[in-house]
Amino acid sequence: MLANAVYILLNQNIMKTLRNLLGAALLIITLSFTPTKNKTVVIDVSHGGHDHGQQEHSITEKDIALQVAQKLQALSQDSSIKIILTRDSDAFVSLKDRVAFIEKQKPHYMISLHANGYKDESTSGYELFYGDGDYHEASKKLASNLSESLNIDLQSRGIKKASFYLLKNAVCPSVFLEMGFLSNPEDRAYLISESGQTAIAMAIFKSLEQL
Ligand SMILES: [Zn+2]
Repeated sequence: MLANAVYILLNQNIMKTLRNLLGAALLIITLSFTPTKNKTVVIDVSHGGHDHGQQEHSITEKDIALQVAQKLQALSQDSSIKIILTRDSDAFVSLKDRVAFIEKQKPHYMISLHANGYKDESTSGYELFYGDGDYHEASKKLASNLSESLNIDLQSRGIKKASFYLLKNAVCPSVFLEMGFLSNPEDRAYLISESGQTAIAMAIFKSLEQL
């Protein structure tokens, strides 16, 4: 009887130890499949709310920017890159608030997403802009890395210097990506398509992975 009780007690202890070991093993497995986020990137989702940005028919720059940004964030889920969006809904965020928000995140990089528009509808393609603040050289490099990755169906209009407010107040290497012209029928079709948006998001993600 006593032997039996000791046996049961031992058995319970073994079970407890096994449970603990299993728990530890599961934790290790989970941790090894959740990569550490070692790169923080703010994606500035331009415009929003009453500020539609460029608009052609019912297609707005604010929607395109959000859709691409959300695809990019989804791609980064299981990666070492932490993507933070300046807005995740159709809300208006002032430039001043964007600067303050970006500063708070202490990101390694910032990319502001836009879509262009022009009176001549034959004008098309994507272009990158960098500013001339403290991060001038690093921003230029970020633009050229992005440009190399942007192997998409739209033509490149190159990398340019600009004095946009967000670039002037950059707290990290920062660029503007004008993804294409909503005023151009081919660009517009590409920018509203799932495949086009995914291709742009993939290209940005690949470029960030390589940095
Ligand atoms: Zn814009």
